[in-house]
Amino acid sequence: MNYRHAYHAGNHTELLKHTALILILRHLCEKSKPFFVLDTHAGLGAYDLNSEKALKTREAEDGILRFARQSQTPSPLLDLVRSFNDGGDILRYPGSPAIIRTHMRETDKLIACELHDQDIKVLKRNLANDRRLIAQQRDGYEAMKALLPPPERRGLVFIDPPFEKPDEEEALANALINAHRKWATGIYLAWYPIKSSRPFDDMKAALADAGIPNVLSVELTLAPTDGERLVGGGVIIINPPWKLDRALEAAARDIRIGLRAHRGEAHMEWVTPRA
Ligand code: SAM
Repeated sequence: MNYRHAYHAGNHTELLKHTALILILRHLCEKSKPFFVLDTHAGLGAYDLNSEKALKTREAEDGILRFARQSQTPSPLLDLVRSFNDGGDILRYPGSPAIIRTHMRETDKLIACELHDQDIKVLKRNLANDRRLIAQQRDGYEAMKALLPPPERRGLVFIDPPFEKPDEEEALANALINAHRKWATGIYLAWYPIKSSRPFDDMKAALADAGIPNVLSVELTLAPTDGERLVGGGVIIINPPWKLDRALEAAARDIRIGLRAHRGEAHMEWVTPRA
């Protein structure tokens, strides 16, 4: 495992992904009934944007920092990141466990999985002393098999793999299909990278072939695809909350405009229709 998220935290692909995460968590908070979140590929939990790793790539500069400087429209992600930095300069970026935590009530529960030997230690430290939060060193896909459906019977599975392995798209599709068989009413949010045109078509086709309804995809690119560079990212959402399609499409457009990505595109489509 070579991938370390500390090099990439706050980059442009995080903006749509984490906005989707926030909008789904807000929906879960609309009812008082407790929810469960499984964060299968959790990373460190929070990131110092002035760490050696972050400064080596400076990816946040073209992502959250540029967005914060230039965006002129309200953004739930910017609000959260600003409050994570106590309203001052943006020096820290919240990872998915920190974003999830800010939405949790007393009875909600998070299980966050991270496989990397060093990163799991930091994650455990970041989630310590809170009995609602559990960090485990385990394979996130194996956790989906073992932990679903959760006793709460309501909640979210967030899947954010590093895409280091050539078969990750297939692994992700299989994990979603198998999890949906066990827990058809859960919300699933998965991120994927965009380098080429028609990204992750095989995964979308596999979900449709498996007969899974309510599959939404929203994609955001900042430049035309060339098959090599990471020009954007997409999210697949199974069972998205009502009206999330339009809200996320608008958010993707606002991010594109906020980043002044005039050659980019925001695109929303229902991969399979609403049931
Ligand atoms: N979800 C995080 C966020 O939004 O802040 C970022 C996650 S990063 C893209 C992917 C993480 O998954 C890395 O920290 C990597 O070490 C970890 N990882 C890789 N393979 C894994 C697996 N099979 N199960 C659990 N974690 C894994």
